[in-house]
Amino acid sequence: MADAVPTMADATVEVNHDVCIVSGMCASLAPEIFDIDDDGLKLEVLQPTLPPELVAKARSAEACCPVEAIQVTEA
Ligand code: SF4
Repeated sequence: MADAVPTMADATVEVNHDVCIVSGMCASLAPEIFDIDDDGLKLEVLQPTLPPELVAKARSAEACCPVEAIQVTEA
């Protein structure tokens, strides 16, 4: 039988780099999760899998992204 035991599923965060304009809003709101590279040209997701204590911050960043590039998924 397959593993069907419900566990506390991880929340994840993804960024659509095709639409991200590297505004830095998310990195300001949640520097534990997002970082802009030294050249200011690319956003990096430091924690694609979110610990529970960072989900609210990720949600704030998702809400504030000017181009809706951030997607937080909670299974
Ligand atoms: S807030 Fe949105 S547009 Fe700005 S860096 Fe983050 S993902 Fe990119």
